[in-house]
Amino acid sequence: MPPEQKNAIVTGGGSGIGRACSLQLARDGIAVAVWDLNPEGAEETVTMIEKEGGRGIACVGDAAETRKIAESLARTHSELGPVTILVNNAGITGFCSFTEIDEDAWDRMIRVNLKGPFLCTQAVIGDMLEAGWGRIINISSSSTQSGAPVMAHYVASKGGVVGFTKALAMEYAAVGITVNTIPPGFVDTPMLRGSPVDIEAQAAQAPMKRPGRPEDIAAACSYLASEAAGYVTGQTLSVNGGRYLV
Ligand code: NAP
Repeated sequence: MPPEQKNAIVTGGGSGIGRACSLQLARDGIAVAVWDLNPEGAEETVTMIEKEGGRGIACVGDAAETRKIAESLARTHSELGPVTILVNNAGITGFCSFTEIDEDAWDRMIRVNLKGPFLCTQAVIGDMLEAGWGRIINISSSSTQSGAPVMAHYVASKGGVVGFTKALAMEYAAVGITVNTIPPGFVDTPMLRGSPVDIEAQAAQAPMKRPGRPEDIAAACSYLASEAAGYVTGQTLSVNGGRYLV
C-alpha cells in the first residue's frame, strides 16, 4: 500500500529539470524537499511550489557529500517525514577532448553524477523499505544512447547511472520499490544554455523541431512516481522528442 502522505526529495531541484520535477510532484500532492547546491535556486523553487498551494522545503548542500546528505535528510525527516520518492537529478556536465580530461575532472564527474545518486539512494532506501513502497527516478542522459564526442567522462558517469538503475530495480522489485531512469535529450535549461551546444541549431535538426522543455521530463517523472507506474521497473523512459529511437 502506498503511504498516505508521500514525500519526495529532488536533488538539483533549484534549476531546470529538477525544478520542473519538483513543481510537478508538488502538483501531484507530494511534499517536496528541494536539495540543491544553490540556495537562491532552491528557495525560489519552494516559493513557486508554495504559490501553487503545495508544500516544499529547501535544503542547501552537496548531494554527493555524505555529511551534507545526512544533514539534509535529518531536516527533511523532521519537517516532512519519511521519504518514499527520490529523484536523483543533480548533475554537472563537461566538454573536453578525451586526451585533455584530467584525473580531477574525471573524478569530479563521477562523484557528482554517479556517486551522488548512490549516496542519496543509500540514505533514503530505509524509509522506502519500511513503507514497503518506493519510487526511485534517476535522471541519466540520452548521450548514453547516442554517444557524444568530447564528453567521455560525462557519458561514462551517466552510463553508470543506467546500470545502477537496472541493478537496484532487480534488488528491490519484490519489496514494492521501483527504480527507473529518464535519459533526457537536449532540454532547454541553464545547464544547456551554459554549454557549447547550439540549442537552436540542434532544434532545427530534431524530429519535433524544438528542444525539450523541463516540463517534458517532469511529466515522465510524475508518471514514474505514480501508482499507475507500479509495474514499471528497471526501465529507461526516453524523453527526447524522437531524436533517438532505442
Ligand atoms: P541545471 O539547470 O544546471 O540544474 C542542475 C541543478 O543541480 C543546479 O541548480 C545545480 O546547482 C545543482 N547541482 C549541481 N551539482 C550539485 C550537487 N553536487 N549537489 C546538489 N545540487 C547540485 O541542469 P539541468 O539541465 O536541469 O540538468 C538536470 C539533470 O539532467 C542533470 O543530471 C543533467 O546531467 C541531466 N541532463 C540534462 C540534459 C539537458 O539537455 N539539459 C540532457 C541530459 C541530461 P549549481 O547551479 O549551483 O551548480
